[in-house]
Formats: sequence, structure tokens, C-alpha cells
Amino acid sequence: MAQRCYIVGNWKMNGMRSDLSEARAIDRASSRLPKVEVALAPPSTLILAMRDAVNHIGVGAQNCHAADKGAHTGDVSANMLREAGADFVIVGHSERRADHGETNEDVKAKAESAQAIDMGVILCVGESEAERDSGEAEEIVARQLAASLPDSCARLSVAYEPIWAIGTGRVPSVQDVGTMHKWLRAVLVDRYGEDGREVRILYGGSVKGENAAELLAAPEVGGALVGGASLSADGFVPIIVAAS
Ligand code: PEP
Repeated sequence: MAQRCYIVGNWKMNGMRSDLSEARAIDRASSRLPKVEVALAPPSTLILAMRDAVNHIGVGAQNCHAADKGAHTGDVSANMLREAGADFVIVGHSERRADHGETNEDVKAKAESAQAIDMGVILCVGESEAERDSGEAEEIVARQLAASLPDSCARLSVAYEPIWAIGTGRVPSVQDVGTMHKWLRAVLVDRYGEDGREVRILYGGSVKGENAAELLAAPEVGGALVGGASLSADGFVPIIVAAS
């Protein structure tokens, strides 16, 4: 069965209780667009309140620790996030890799800790601008993905997010997006066999209402991971509409 297009908003370190009105408006719009699977990943502090505020969309987390519990001050485990109401967790976002030195091995371990308790996982990969300019972006990102993948593809999605496109207003050409996604599909099929064809590959990086339809039509694009434009219903709903 064909999977629904998956549109996920990553609120990053943005969002107070007063911003839940935006989540409610996104939720209402999503209820009228059932062909699209919509989710938001607010900061951990808002997961519980957002879960209570919405009825139609998924709610997830932006990161987890790979261990279940222990002496890890300031960290939160996947099962704690699930208890707070998260259905899925984003792992390996380039901001986590850059700001917290997360390695491919860390990302794999985090993904597996979430899968072990049946949470969804969105695993992010993407090249820097220098890597794009080297002409070897596909090989580099394919290697990054292969080294970050969990042993199972249960409830796994992958997000291809060129680092130079995040928050910059710049996007790769639709052709480059399609080429990269085909490479990533090959990695997934190589690792998981035919099951690898079921893993949705999202595009992320400056997706807006104006460019969403074009990007979502590229080969092997099964949805979008959206940062800035997901913070308001005005920004996010047009993307969901474009996906419907
Ligand atoms: C992101 O950081 O995941 C992202 C895609 O951000 P933006 O949409 O703001 O480029």
C-alpha cells in the first residue's frame, strides 16, 4: 500500500505554551487533509502539553539519549519522551552533530534505543557546502547514512537535509534532490532488502509553501522535514496543502 506523504515540523529550541495555538491551528487544518501524515517535534518541555492540545497530528522529540536511564545529567531517554507523549524521535540532526559532536555511531545507538520501544525514528543526514562543492555529495551522504543506520528499519524514516540549505532560503535543484534520494534509496535497499523500499525519505532545508510541491514531486521524496516554516500555521499549512 502506498504510504502517505509525511510532513514533519521541527520546532528546534522554539516554542512556549503560548505557541500551542499554532499547533492547534495546524492540527485543525491537518484533519481536513487526511492524505498527508503530519507531525510536529516541539522542544521536550512542550511535548506533553502539545500532545494534549492536538488530535490529528503526531508529536515527537528532537533528540534522545541512547541509554534507558542513568547518570547523564540533562539528557532524556526515548522511553521518558514516549511517556511524555512522543510518538517518534528525530536523531542525527546536523545541529546535534555539529553542536554536540554526535557521531554516526551515536546516531545509530539513539535510533535503536527508540526502535526498541516501538517509537518512530527520523534519521537525518546531509552534506556541508564544501562537500557539495567537492562534487562528491552523493558518495559522502550515502556513507554517512550507511554508518548511521540502525539494524532494523522498523518505523524508520530518513531525512536528507543539506546543511547549507537549512535556514538559509537556499535549496538544491529538484534534480539534485532526486539524484541524492535515489542514492539513499539504494543504501536502504542494500541494507534492508525489499523492506528498504518502504522507508520514507524526507527532504529538509528551506522548504516553504512556495517550493514544497516541486520538491515533493522529486523522485523518492516521501515527505519533508521543515524547520522555520513549521513554527506557524501560516507557514506550515501551505506545505501540508502542497503535499495533499
Ligand atoms: C531543519 O533544520 O531541519 C530545517 C529543515 O530547517 P529549515 O526548514 O528552517 O531550513
